[in-house]
Amino acid sequence: MRSLRVFEAAAGVLTLFVACVDPPNMGEGTAGTAGKSASGGTTGGSGGSSNAGKGGSSGGMSTAGKGGSGAKGGTAGKGGGTGAQGGSTGATGGSDATGGSDTSPGGEGGIGGSAGEGGIGGSAGEGGIGGSAGEGVATGGSGGMVVVGGKSSLPVPPTTGIAKPSGTPGNLDVVDWAGFSGAISFTFDDSLQSQLDYYAALNAVGVRMTFYLVCGNDGGKLGWQTAANDGHELGNHTMHHCNANGTSCGWGGFSGVDAELDDCQTHLETAYGIQGPYSMAAPMGDGGWQVPASSRFLLNRGVYDNPAGVTPNDGTNPYDLPCHIANQGETAVGGFNLVTDDVESKHSWRIILNHSLLPGSNEGYHPVDPAEVVAAMTYARDKGDVWVDSLINVGAYWRAQKVVSALTAAHDGDDLVYSWTLPAHFPSGQYLRVTVDGGTVKQLGTELTWDEHGYYEVTLDAGSVTISP
Ligand SMILES: [Zn+2]
Repeated sequence: MRSLRVFEAAAGVLTLFVACVDPPNMGEGTAGTAGKSASGGTTGGSGGSSNAGKGGSSGGMSTAGKGGSGAKGGTAGKGGGTGAQGGSTGATGGSDATGGSDTSPGGEGGIGGSAGEGGIGGSAGEGGIGGSAGEGVATGGSGGMVVVGGKSSLPVPPTTGIAKPSGTPGNLDVVDWAGFSGAISFTFDDSLQSQLDYYAALNAVGVRMTFYLVCGNDGGKLGWQTAANDGHELGNHTMHHCNANGTSCGWGGFSGVDAELDDCQTHLETAYGIQGPYSMAAPMGDGGWQVPASSRFLLNRGVYDNPAGVTPNDGTNPYDLPCHIANQGETAVGGFNLVTDDVESKHSWRIILNHSLLPGSNEGYHPVDPAEVVAAMTYARDKGDVWVDSLINVGAYWRAQKVVSALTAAHDGDDLVYSWTLPAHFPSGQYLRVTVDGGTVKQLGTELTWDEHGYYEVTLDAGSVTISP
């Protein structure tokens, strides 16, 4: 009974969203197979197909979508029979997406996540695995989705009025630094109280920052939760701030390389409810952390400077990222702003490392006046052509650009298909901005919209992009 009711409920969307329909098998059959990944966004998810099987009292399964940055959670999709769960938190970027389809009585296609705006889709997309019990005929639903065609939460570069490319289809090219001249990330280490004391002023600048927490020293403080809720990155700075050989601990005693990282990771996830984290900072920049970082994180910040900065497609070690360490009493005009000018002129990415903020509690290294840090971030923001963002957002873009820039297109009829695999420990919900010489750019069958700031926004979770004549 349930399956029939479900079918009727879903029937209204069939004309729009059925992608594949297999003839129903009456009675017992094989369990439905998964629908393919559904595309969402404004067009709604495409449905999964299935071989009808036993009636669908238990439903399909799918990988849950993961919300991206700025994404408003979608509702879970539902798949064949009663079961499949689709993009659980992620679907965004358009109107409600309805994925999945019925193929026959007994099951329901996945209902995609309902959308937020401008967010990032769930990664997901194996459709439902068909119902496995019950009566009549089941279908596999399609479940999770990767929403394409939405807008990222990346800041918008100043250039505008750029016409959509109309030349020969092909030649996928990643836009450096999301369309900005350069990039800068402001990071704050050691979970120091003074950073929280002046958090409101820092946050008021309106750019995303990164806070590397010493998990044995963060006190589970509400202030860090506020920072996470405001969209800032909380990164792993180990439990006790030691060298990887156990010496020179700053807070507490060494618990071993694995525990120093993994216990901090667990703490960040449970105390603050954040995914990942995807980046860490090596205490004291000790190189002994690079190898353990590489099996757990996408990025690790060191503690040495490289005035050349990081540049697109360069050979910088992602597990030893350089940074500018704030000097004691450093000012915006006398120090930080020169770094911002530098990334603008060199088209590079630099990272700023701050510790204690005077005149608050001077409990840390190299105290600076918080007003100078606020002035520095404001200066960078107001440049207009400098991308100011968290370390993970800029760093993930940099790493993804290296992957996508190295691709060779495969030919599929008249289409050119670029497919990629993201590096391990890559956050979901990230975008790249790309250009082409011409053609129609699609992901998962959905045409992407040209942005007059000079790019298409490609959903990395989708794993491919197609250029059609
Ligand atoms: Zn530190």
